[in-house]
Amino acid sequence: MNISKMLSETPTSDLGFGDKQEAKQPSALKVASMTRRRSSAASTCSFSSACYTGSSDEDPVSPREKKQRNTTGFTDFCVKNISSQHSFGRREIEIAEKEMPGILALRKRASDDKPLRNAQIVGCTHINAQTAVLIETLVELGATVRWAACNIYSTQNAVAAALAEAGIPIFAWRGETEEDFWWCLDKCAHSDNWNPNMILDDGGDATHLMWKKYPIIFKGIKGIVEESVTGVHRLYQLVKIGKLTVPAINVNDSVTKARFDNYYNSKDSILDSLKRSTDIMFAGKQVVICGYGDVGKGCAQSLRGQGCVVYVTEIDPICALQASMDGFRVVRLNEIIRQVDIVVTATGNKNVITRDHMDRMKSGCIVCNMGHSNSEIDVNSLHSPELSWLRVRSQVDHIIWPDGRTIILLAEGRLVNLSCSTIPSFVVSVTAAAQALALIELYNAPTGRYKSDVYLLPKKMDEYVASLHLPILDAHLTELTDEQAKYLGLNKAGPFKPNYYRY
Ligand code: NAD
Repeated sequence: MNISKMLSETPTSDLGFGDKQEAKQPSALKVASMTRRRSSAASTCSFSSACYTGSSDEDPVSPREKKQRNTTGFTDFCVKNISSQHSFGRREIEIAEKEMPGILALRKRASDDKPLRNAQIVGCTHINAQTAVLIETLVELGATVRWAACNIYSTQNAVAAALAEAGIPIFAWRGETEEDFWWCLDKCAHSDNWNPNMILDDGGDATHLMWKKYPIIFKGIKGIVEESVTGVHRLYQLVKIGKLTVPAINVNDSVTKARFDNYYNSKDSILDSLKRSTDIMFAGKQVVICGYGDVGKGCAQSLRGQGCVVYVTEIDPICALQASMDGFRVVRLNEIIRQVDIVVTATGNKNVITRDHMDRMKSGCIVCNMGHSNSEIDVNSLHSPELSWLRVRSQVDHIIWPDGRTIILLAEGRLVNLSCSTIPSFVVSVTAAAQALALIELYNAPTGRYKSDVYLLPKKMDEYVASLHLPILDAHLTELTDEQAKYLGLNKAGPFKPNYYRY
């Protein structure tokens, strides 16, 4: 498969995808990757728009006890309810496609070449309209797949039904038990006439199961693509003990994932989630953002844009200086905790907001978290006899002190944007395009290009992912002249930046 040919119409056409020098992750990034966390199977937060908008069918019968078939008689799947939900799910997928230009461009460009012909992919990701677009793209590019959900709460049942109706072996429903979760994953790893050779994982559970339970099948794996920090961390642990026997690409730390998901997604969805859950008017409100990394920066920019007075807390002098020079007041929480109307955590740390802080907030203060899991706000301390909890809306609790003072806690301290709003499909398109390209690269790489190690997506691919998303935004790239390329010492087709460049 000639990948360069497939990509030849782009400014980044001359792709040397396998350049190990470029692709290998520098150690500083390894460390950084471990600080960025996403959910894994056992986590209770979801990365799906389904948290908010998904179907809520109450059928108490476990899908495992039902015999279902699609309209063509296909039965190799297990979803909540195929017959009543698949057409609704198909509409959801079509809506998502409209905002996923990059992955669709890749689908169109590579559909003749079928760069994933004969690839057999075990997939484990959130199952929502956006990931369905990725799954169907992989199939269009020649792969056969078996797919399970990486999170027991995040599946959009209607979307899973639509995939099953399309003949995709999918094993997922919202509200799986832990045991169901592993059963579904097992169905993807092991089946008759199924010899998987690739893994697309989000959280490391598919990799873990296959490595542990099916070592013989695992030997046939050519490559692993991992999206989450948790999964990447697990891969590095395997490398460390010399147990990783296949190459893996860490998509989590590709520029087009970290910058776009963490920054632009947060910038977009913080407003959406606060608005949907509280109907608050932003202008004039005082907000504190804890943490001024990519997520904090996105939140701070966006809330300021709405007319909020924004304070920032930071532990790192570099980020604190950035915040100051971006025009935000850098403070300690204690200085402003009594006056703020909204508290947003985005640190990836624990116990950033303590019970003591919450005891001093003013009545009506909204408290929410954009960072990993539910550790940033000490929600456990609010489960005490003197406080009462009132669920006023889905994902919105009023915590009432004995004197009537109330704070408004969103999503019980879990990721607010993923619990109370939808994720922009455009951002998922960027990540999905990176995942698809990583699979194509590992699947087609000649022997020896990659060793049993964890690699970053080659820089040219990162640039290619971005270039796929430019036309829809009517953005026109300037091309280097020969003279300019020579002057900067660059290939006119890229890569345009060294690996250490910070965007
Ligand atoms: P980051 O490491 O770039 O930024 C976190 C910042 O918090 C750092 O600058 C750090 O110095 C600061 N910090 C740490 N402890 C602090 C404390 N006690 N008080 C104040 N500041 C503190 O990480 P990021 O990319 O901005 O991600 C932040 C979190 O958001 C991570 O947990 C990540 O997994 C999560 N995340 C969420 C989403 C989402 O959609 N909600 C998307 C991507 C990442």
